Amino acid sequence: MPAAVRFLLRDHGVRRVLRSTLVFAVGLAAVGTTHAATAFDRAGFRREVVANPAQALAQGRTLLDSDALAQHPGQERELLWLMGRAALLKADDAALAEVNLRLGSLAEMRHDDLARAYAGFLRAWLLLDRGKTDAGLGDALRAAALLQDRSDPATRGLVAYQLCNAYSEAGDYHRAQTQCDRALDAYSELHDSERIAGAENLKAEVLYNLGQVQASIALLEDARQRYRAAHDAPRAGIIDDNLARLDLEQGKAAAAIRLSRRSLAEAERAGRVNHVILARANIARAESALGQHAAALADISADVAAARQRHLAGLLPDLLDTESRIAEAAGQLKQALHAARAEANEIASQQATMDTGADVAALEARFATREKELRIGELERANRIKALELVTAQADAARHQAQLARQQLKFAFASLLAVGAGLIALTLFLLLRGQRQHGAQYREQALRDPLTGLENRRAFFSRLQALVSGQVGEPPHALLLLDLDHFKQINDRGGHPLGDTVLVAVARCLEETLAGAGQLARIGGEEFGVLCSGRGPSSALTLGERLRAAVAGLTVATAEVPALTITLSIGVAVLGTLGEDVDAWIRRADRALYAAKARGRNTVVEAAPA
Ligand code: GH3
Ligand code: MG
Ligand code: MG
Repeated sequence: MPAAVRFLLRDHGVRRVLRSTLVFAVGLAAVGTTHAATAFDRAGFRREVVANPAQALAQGRTLLDSDALAQHPGQERELLWLMGRAALLKADDAALAEVNLRLGSLAEMRHDDLARAYAGFLRAWLLLDRGKTDAGLGDALRAAALLQDRSDPATRGLVAYQLCNAYSEAGDYHRAQTQCDRALDAYSELHDSERIAGAENLKAEVLYNLGQVQASIALLEDARQRYRAAHDAPRAGIIDDNLARLDLEQGKAAAAIRLSRRSLAEAERAGRVNHVILARANIARAESALGQHAAALADISADVAAARQRHLAGLLPDLLDTESRIAEAAGQLKQALHAARAEANEIASQQATMDTGADVAALEARFATREKELRIGELERANRIKALELVTAQADAARHQAQLARQQLKFAFASLLAVGAGLIALTLFLLLRGQRQHGAQYREQALRDPLTGLENRRAFFSRLQALVSGQVGEPPHALLLLDLDHFKQINDRGGHPLGDTVLVAVARCLEETLAGAGQLARIGGEEFGVLCSGRGPSSALTLGERLRAAVAGLTVATAEVPALTITLSIGVAVLGTLGEDVDAWIRRADRALYAAKARGRNTVVEAAPA
């Protein structure tokens, strides 16, 4: 397996190594500020996102379903943004799709560009995390464009921060640096120490990749100071890990171990599984650098197991890569190869997940259209109400509509959650596909016969009804009923497959012969119907004769049956002028058909007058 070997020998870019650690610290900055009447504890929730993403997602869902935020769309949007970050930390595509659907719905219902931009930034993160840098950068730029008219520092900071991250992932560190500086300016204007620290952390990564190691360390130390001052132990610990990583890169393994052991102890005390894993990985790397191979191997193997157990798929490639390197250094080539192979598989499976992600994105777009239709309906209604100058009623209607949409969404997600987290992505896909089928396409399918592609009985009868009620067409109206002769014998001879082949051949032959002169349908097993307007009895008989002759001249050939000829019998009835109804019309045509059979088949018979 050449791919596995490639992973063993691959040049290991610093950017990727550093990213896997920094991903836990960055990206939490948002525009929304604290509200006087908060329905949820934003700061607490944000810490929960870092400390335990799964828990944060569960809490967020509970909050959304409780309707506590229904009157606070701004808070709902901020909550969703943070839930999206948790989904990314958990590497949970399905949860991310759920968050994005909700954000999209919010954006449509409330004309909320910020919600739309959040959804775009989250999608960008997912793409970037999966190495789809061009697509990710594209999404980030599109989302940023949505907010370009806003000049408040919070929005400027958010946009610059997100672009800095995207450019950094794309390897364009100079542009990334410009954006990071903008973010830092904006957050300094706000005197928002916590967001400044986040931007510093990101900029440290950019500078490190530009070769400015000392400047990078200085930024990280400042960020750590800020988190400490804010008593934000989780993120101070992450910065420690980043510093340890830099120490290690510079060959200061002993210093790195000291930092990482401290942050490991903190993470373990707080029960932050993610950070335990990250810190222990750093310790393992440092141990390996110090020649303590056995300890290093034990640590990193425990890490891999823990990441698997917690489904932290996003961390696994980096951990497995570390494991294979440490094993290689320890002379355990077999284990090294094994880890490298596992890493290759991991990356491949993340790639596969990504494809599902693309499906979900397409479905999200579809869903957005549906929501838009909903909103148009809402606006139409609002206009009518406005005409009646019921201004308050208008507001009520809008609220009601929003409530309705929210309940629909809630129902959808409730059923999603019921089947279990593992199946969410699939269910989401099926659910949305089901919704799509409710459209025009679905109605179209319901009126077609799948075997021949002709209209079915239902469609035919509604056309009959429309003609009888005088809604369409110019009288006289002619009805032709066609029934294949001795069709049972055909089935007996070659089985149902042969029968089906004949049915399709006859359908095509009738269609071609009619050439638009009438409306053809398959109304039963081997029965067809033709409707045409503007034809009296003799003209309808002529048409029937043409159809009969065409089918009689048809030869069907299959492997088993080289030359099969088919005939059919036809009954023709022209709609009576004295208020004849559908049933009576069909009965007359049917009797004429029966007469054609009785006369020896392969015949056209005209019905008695109404
Ligand atoms: P007749 O000339 O009197 O109409 O003789 P017939 O054999 O055609 O008699 P009848 O109309 O009673 O039988 C129709 C047969 O068509 C019965 C059924 O097995 C067959 N059939 C109905 N639908 C399908 C179908 O979708 N595919 C196939 N292969 N056969 C079908
Ligand atoms: Mg029949
Ligand atoms: Mg028949």
